[in-house]
Amino acid sequence: MLEEEQPADRELLQALVALPQEDVDDLLRLANEVRERACGNGVAVEVLYNAKKGGCSEDCHFCSQSARFATDVEAEPLSSIDGFLEAARDAHRRGAGEFCMVVAVRGPSRSLLERVAAATKLIKQELPLKVAVSLGILREEQMPVLVEAGVDKVNHNLETSRRYFPYVCTTHTFDERWETCARVKRFGLELCCGGIIGMGETTEDRVEFLLTLQELEPQEVPINFLNPRPGTPFADRSLVEPIEALRFVAMARLALPNALIRFAGGREITLQGLQDLGMLSGASGLVLGDYLTTRGRGDRDDFAMLERLGFEVMA
Ligand code: SF4
Repeated sequence: MLEEEQPADRELLQALVALPQEDVDDLLRLANEVRERACGNGVAVEVLYNAKKGGCSEDCHFCSQSARFATDVEAEPLSSIDGFLEAARDAHRRGAGEFCMVVAVRGPSRSLLERVAAATKLIKQELPLKVAVSLGILREEQMPVLVEAGVDKVNHNLETSRRYFPYVCTTHTFDERWETCARVKRFGLELCCGGIIGMGETTEDRVEFLLTLQELEPQEVPINFLNPRPGTPFADRSLVEPIEALRFVAMARLALPNALIRFAGGREITLQGLQDLGMLSGASGLVLGDYLTTRGRGDRDDFAMLERLGFEVMA
């Protein structure tokens, strides 16, 4: 497989998901080699900005920002343009090369979209940041607004396999998510599309999820591990075993050899002291600092780790 530089196919992914745990080390080493060939030592560092917190109409069972669940997240209105700009300046000061503005909505209203577009233009004028947005389901006529504003990348996660998605969310469908992802690509924007491991899916679901991502060919695949949030339907789920988390990152690298595979939410609580190994299992990017509703570890720890492992932060 390494010689041919071919993405892992169904047969190989099924073999890898069943690989005995004592052989997973070899898989991690292989994924790290593939990552080095595809990405060199570059690493993409991104800061997230939760620009409209909570109060979401949807019922994604992992999410403490849904208005349907009694969680500790208090809804906040959409950020002002100054708020967006200040957050972007802060991301740049902290050493990130990417800044992602996230809003907790099913999809953007016209006024929300216009404010995000206006903020994007100002950020692009002032700062050398790659700008991403995560705005939920996007309609065809909304795409030109993002393109014209200079948005580089749109995040929209499929979250899990098509089969398991209805157990995760009942207020919108997998196909609606797929259509938004396809739309992002059609309009020539970079697509960031990944999901969450540990929501109760089977190992076969994990394979199916990767095969679906292969079809979609996103430029970036963020991998989250469920951090069960009190008050959500998934509050009682167990954490993913560290070895299974690492196995999935490695499988993602082999399935999508040239993608930016980004370590995202839940990596601290799931991998604990194995953060270094995580970065050596095929990942080529990480989220710096806090996530949308949970804390990350300090910037200093992550930059020290990247330096120790020989990664170079990409501008
Ligand atoms: S994941 Fe997004 S769409 Fe789903 S409930 Fe949370 S904020 Fe809403």
